[in-house]
Amino acid sequence: MGREQDDLLRRGIGMTSQRTRERLIQRLYEEGLTNTQVLEVIRRTPRHLFVDEALAHRAYEDTALPIGHNQTISQPYMVARMSELLLAAGPLDKVLEIGTGSGYQTAVLSQLVERVFSVERIKVLQDRAKERLVELNLRNVVFRWGDGWEGWPALAPYNGIIVTAVATDVPQALLDQLAPGGRLVIPVGAGEVQQLMLIIREEQGFSRQVLGAVRFVPLLNGPLA
Ligand code: SAH
Repeated sequence: MGREQDDLLRRGIGMTSQRTRERLIQRLYEEGLTNTQVLEVIRRTPRHLFVDEALAHRAYEDTALPIGHNQTISQPYMVARMSELLLAAGPLDKVLEIGTGSGYQTAVLSQLVERVFSVERIKVLQDRAKERLVELNLRNVVFRWGDGWEGWPALAPYNGIIVTAVATDVPQALLDQLAPGGRLVIPVGAGEVQQLMLIIREEQGFSRQVLGAVRFVPLLNGPLA
């Protein structure tokens, strides 16, 4: 561990007590999230470094928080749930993430799978996220500034794809970029009516499961400088 990362992690413990973090983990566990590997990664990932300093004291509440540009850092429950769903059939090698945002979900994933490929449409958010991951020495992530509706075809196929914004329909490009047996976790819908879905590429076609109501910001069109 580098000196800088050491300092950062220490600062993390100073700013938000270990007890606050433990409480969050306990709460997630009580809500039915029992994948210990996922919970352990959430416990050790300093979420307060992914929000504005003014909001850092709320970073270990189980809630989404604003990150600017009308976007939010995902709720820890949702990050844990989506990570569990991705990993439920075994370890994953290549995972594509659509909607880097603050980079928090990216940071969690990067500690659970071999490699993460993360696409974001808002350049400034992506730049900040990149910096944070470097600070934390999480190096198995590659970033792309682009439109998540298109996925990242050049590096396909992926064993897992996670979308952290709600899509009006499942993007065809993402289905095309799933490896055999690959898993896509995606909120689908519009406005208040949104459902979390798990789609798996089977030998023939796709299986789909609807997993319950969720609340995400929309998956928009095109990259934004
Ligand atoms: N997981 C992120 C959540 C960010 S909110 C976090 O925990 O911080 C959703 C993100 O999806 C936003 O950053 C938004 O800019 C991005 N997004 C929306 N539409 C997109 C698109 N078409 N392509 C790529 N990213 C998109």
